[in-house]
Amino acid sequence: MATLRIYRCECGYEVQTEPTGHYGLFAGEFYNFRCAKCKEIVSISADDLAEQRYLPTCPECGAMNEEIHNWNPIEGRCPKCGKEMKEVPGMVIMAD
Ligand SMILES: [Zn+2]
Ligand SMILES: [Zn+2]
Repeated sequence: MATLRIYRCECGYEVQTEPTGHYGLFAGEFYNFRCAKCKEIVSISADDLAEQRYLPTCPECGAMNEEIHNWNPIEGRCPKCGKEMKEVPGMVIMAD
């Protein structure tokens, strides 16, 4: 069970996650990464990471290694335009 917040950039890009950049759901623990190739924030489960031998692979485009970076909404920036992501107040999603 997780309480996800919405982080939005002024360009309109949105991510649903927790401030730490990882969250636990019934399906397992998920971690956020920024893919430099497809310019998306992706979530990869702990199970998938273990299968990938902790070399995260983008589920969207298959990029890996230097194209994939740990990401969280506090320190991280919008993957599309590089600006700060801001929490949308009052928008909380309960996920399980
Ligand atoms: Zn990608
Ligand atoms: Zn942006």
